[in-house]
Amino acid sequence: MAIVLLGPPGSGKGTQAALLCERLGVPHISTGELLRQAVREGSELGRRAQRFMDAGELVPDELVLDLIEQRLGLDDVRHGYILDGYPRNLAQAEALDQVLARVGLPVRCALAIEVDENEIIGRLARRATEEGRSDDSTAVVRNRLKVYSEQTAPVSDYYRQRKLLHTVDGMGSVEAVNERLYRALPDGST
Ligand code: AMP
Repeated sequence: MAIVLLGPPGSGKGTQAALLCERLGVPHISTGELLRQAVREGSELGRRAQRFMDAGELVPDELVLDLIEQRLGLDDVRHGYILDGYPRNLAQAEALDQVLARVGLPVRCALAIEVDENEIIGRLARRATEEGRSDDSTAVVRNRLKVYSEQTAPVSDYYRQRKLLHTVDGMGSVEAVNERLYRALPDGST
């Protein structure tokens, strides 16, 4: 089944997606990771995406849609997958529904991880030191949080209206949050 994982930067979305994928035996599709890989490889797409990523802005929809369509074309998604970092705005949510309708794998569930803002800022500051991600500097983090609240937060409503949204408390240990996410999955997915 197709599961969408939502949450602000620093909510632990990437870590939780990886753990859930391991538990469910399905691939983890992270648009942030796919984009960082394209940048490392120096591909045309990577070159075009980099300046947006460095500024904490969203990469233009058509570039990310190309990437996600290519990834969803691979065989390993047939038995389900977790999308991490996509969709990031309403246009992407609608585009995703169209792509998935074509392949016959509609989104079954959207899990939203909720974490309060002070905790997020602390976590991102720690990640900047530990992982050295260039988009974790203070000014860029502030912009990523702004982009999240303006463009990505409405995506939760999109799934809420379709009765696919489950919110999960993202405070506490990685294991505790993972257990909550796992239990929030609809029947038939575990
Ligand atoms: P993430 O690893 O998910 O935090 O993504 C890192 C950066 O990649 C974001 O700040 C954006 O610049 C870009 N990015 C990742 N996913 C998307 C997306 N779905 N749409 C546009 N930009 C994205």
